[in-house]
Amino acid sequence: MKTFSYARADSPEAAVEAIADGAKFIAGGTNLLDLMKLQIEAPDALVDISRLDLAQVEEHDGGMRIGALVPNSDLAAHPLIRARYPLLSRALLSGASAQLRNKATTGGNLLQRTRCYYFYDTAAPCNKRAPGSGCNAQGGYNRIHAILGASEHCIATHPSDMAVAMRALDAVVVTLQPGGDRRRIALGDLYRLPGDTPQIETSLAPGELITHIELPASPAGKQLYRKVRDRASYAFAVVSVAAVIAVEDGTITSAHLAFGGLAPVPWRDPAVEAALVGQPASTASFEAAADALLNDARGQGHNDFKIPLTRRTLVAALRDLTEAAR
Ligand code: SF4
Repeated sequence: MKTFSYARADSPEAAVEAIADGAKFIAGGTNLLDLMKLQIEAPDALVDISRLDLAQVEEHDGGMRIGALVPNSDLAAHPLIRARYPLLSRALLSGASAQLRNKATTGGNLLQRTRCYYFYDTAAPCNKRAPGSGCNAQGGYNRIHAILGASEHCIATHPSDMAVAMRALDAVVVTLQPGGDRRRIALGDLYRLPGDTPQIETSLAPGELITHIELPASPAGKQLYRKVRDRASYAFAVVSVAAVIAVEDGTITSAHLAFGGLAPVPWRDPAVEAALVGQPASTASFEAAADALLNDARGQGHNDFKIPLTRRTLVAALRDLTEAAR
């Protein structure tokens, strides 16, 4: 492993001032340390933010404000999260293992890197790890890869479950920049599609620190997080659906839907929600929503099965959510 320096920050302001070119923030370290051991990330310096006072979950402006250092396990177990945002709690508990959830932080979860096999194989070309080197997943083994939002340069998927739930809940990321300015970034604007620069994954500026995540008041309706994966625990989503659906007199009155395992970002498509709102809570409406979602879906060979699997998963989730109201 490459030699690096280490410093512990005692305030968010000190952390963003300490970060320089080639430095990285470290909190739980559940992804970064693996990447450093494999030489995929080789920072010159680590700025340890794990002791900052950013670990509170509190009510805020009708919703919730979550410190970036709240461990995933604490967030999943928080009584107000379980009561008001049960899909977020379920998404968190479906990710990783209990040990990892105890260490992984809310901010770090949002910024975890893809689990594309070739990204972790430093002998293989990978445009995300080594820009311009190629993409071995295309034409290679691509069972876990994207069917939506990919580019000719990268077809990796985003691995987080939590981010999918937060995308459905219209979460906003609050940041602190070097110099002291704060920004509020809608979660959908935090992530970038790969295009021709797959190595740039977010809209964060160099040295910008996520300090909080805000959730607006929980949308009306029943909530669900459904994750399809290859084994019952400690596995990333092949397909996941985060959904909040409200039904009145048999008609869908509001819909919030986001998807994991399908795209380089937690995926949300307004056309899917538009296909549902104002329609009867029926299988025909659910199939129409799946059509809207999958209209531009493209398999890469080994992952072709994700297209029918996503359709079945979405229709089944919507059936389950609306069963009592139909
Ligand atoms: Fe690299 Fe993306 Fe291709 Fe995977 S899919 S090998 S991460 S460029």
